[in-house]
Order: sequence, then structure tokens, then C-alpha cells
Amino acid sequence: MNHPQISFIVPLYNEQESFSILVERLNKLMDTCSSQSFEVVMVNDGSKDRTAELMQVNALNDARYHCVFLSRNFGHQLALSAGLSVARGTEAVMCIDGDLQDPPELFTEFYKLFKEGNEVVYAVRRNRKENWFKKFAYHFYYRLLKKISNIEVNLDSGDFALLSRKVVDILNQLPEESRYLRGLRSWVGFQQTSFEYDRPERAAGETKYSLGMLYRLAYNGIFNFSDFPVKFITNMGIATVLISLSYFIYTIVKRFVFHVPVVEGFTGLLFTIILFSGVQLISLGIIGEYVLRIFFQVKGRPLFIIKNRIVDKKIVE
Ligand code: UDP
Ligand code: MG
Repeated sequence: MNHPQISFIVPLYNEQESFSILVERLNKLMDTCSSQSFEVVMVNDGSKDRTAELMQVNALNDARYHCVFLSRNFGHQLALSAGLSVARGTEAVMCIDGDLQDPPELFTEFYKLFKEGNEVVYAVRRNRKENWFKKFAYHFYYRLLKKISNIEVNLDSGDFALLSRKVVDILNQLPEESRYLRGLRSWVGFQQTSFEYDRPERAAGETKYSLGMLYRLAYNGIFNFSDFPVKFITNMGIATVLISLSYFIYTIVKRFVFHVPVVEGFTGLLFTIILFSGVQLISLGIIGEYVLRIFFQVKGRPLFIIKNRIVDKKIVE
């Protein structure tokens, strides 16, 4: 059995509107690049519309399409992970969004850079067609993450990337539970390079990422790749101890050296108690966050559950 050289991975969640354009553009691309062999791994992330049906009809007619049906909605990052786990591309794997915001045609440019010896070619968004709030939030977030994380953070890059077989094999071995793939990709190392592009608007339909989901993703980026929050608490604790000690010494000196009666300071006392109750709550929360991560990781549940697949025009359970 000959495996394809290149796999495209496309996670799909309620993308019936853009499905036909997606297939059309992928087919055109695969027909043009006739010197490579391809497969398209479409991952249905528990869609509630007709996406699964469209995927099935398409894959039963075209052996280049390899479909994965997850047992429910697991979210974009896990859908991508599921795709990575079954992709057969012997040379490289390219992750793209199903709404065509990651133009598949850029494959040829990515592949050139891959051939020059890069194990990872990731896309960097030059322009975003998004509302000002999202633009600002993204801009600020990536710069914050770069400052505080323990890995090299690629500014303004998402999951749109071409990965070598070697990198995919490593990613598949990582058991990390709350997945932040763009972080893991950077963590893996090897020779990596970026490719700048203007991110277009989605082809059809609406974003499947709610603000809550984006927040969770951003959160995972920070807590999975940075020990900054914990270090911050420790430093704050040390600073507090130093300040209160100095205040204590100051009061003693005032009382016994300068014989000033010490009675004032009720407001200060109250203020300090309230302030540090807050600080303690935040600190507990931050520690709790790491404990929670250990909790979920230790359970060792599978990251996603595959219901069935369509490979070579056949349904496999
Ligand atoms: N997606 C998914 N599962 C989800 C949410 C999104 O598989 O729970 C897919 C979605 O179908 C799309 C890609 O992930 O192909 C990116 O999602 P979207 O375009 O909604 O995100 P945005 O581009 O707005 O950040
Ligand atoms: Mg999108």
C-alpha cells in the first residue's frame, strides 16, 4: 500500500456552507501539483449540521479523502490532534482551517521552504480581517505570551503550518492534555521558518470559536508554557514580607527611640487586610490552576474518541 507524500488536515465543525468551495479548491490544488501525492484528512468535530454527510459522500467517491468522525465535539485543537494522529503523509502534513481562512494554495510556497530543509513552516498573519477588539486582543496576547513563556513564541501565528513527518511523529507522542498546538510545535524545535500572508475572511458561515473558547485557548497558552504566574506569587509574597518587616522595624524605632505613642493606623490596617485577602485568593486560584492541570493529566483519558473513519473509500469502524 503506497502512502501519500502529503496530508492536509482540515478540522470541520458545522462548515456545511463552505464545504463545496473547500473541496473544489483542494481538488484544484491537488490536480495542479501532480508531482506529489496527497490525502486530505477531514476531521468532523461533532458537527450538528450536514458537514458529516457531505464529508461521507465526498470521501466514498474520492480515495484522496480520508475522513475521521469524532464521537462528539472536542474542539479545534483536539480535532487537529486527531487528524495528526491518523495522517499518513510520509513527507509532510499541512494543517488548514476548513473555512478557507488558511488558503490551501499556499501549500506550494510552504513546500518550497520545507524542501530547503525546514522541518516546520508556519504562517504569520500580516493582516487580519477581524473587528478591532479581536485584533487588539490578539496583538496584545501574543506579545504578553512571548514575554512570559518559557518557549520561543511565534508572534501572530496560528495552527496554519506545514510540519515534517518527523515533527508530526513527535507531536503525536506528546500526551499533553490541554493542548495548545502552536506552543507544542514551537517547543519541538528543529529548523523552523515563517511565511507571511494576509489572512482572508472566512469563505462562508460564522466563526466557530466563541469568545469563551478563545479565552480558554489563550489561557492554555499561558499556563501550559509559562511558570510566570507561580513565580509572580512567590515574588509578591517576598515583597510583602519585606514591606511588613520594614514597617514593623519603623514602628519599633518610632516607639522606643523617638518615644512617639503608636495608636494611629487603623485605616492602614484595614486596607492591608483587605488587600492581602485579595492577593491570597488570587494566589490560591493560580496554584489551583496548576493543580487542576495535574488532575486532568493524571486521569490519563484519551484526548479524543474516533467514532469511525473513511479510508480508501471504505468505512472503517
Ligand atoms: N473547529 C473545530 N471545532 C470547534 C471549533 C472550530 O473543528 O469546536 C474548526 C472550524 O470548523 C474551522 C477551524 O476549526 O475549520 C477554525 O475555526 P474558526 O474558523 O471558527 O476559528 P477562527 O478562524 O474564527 O479563529
Ligand atoms: Mg476561521
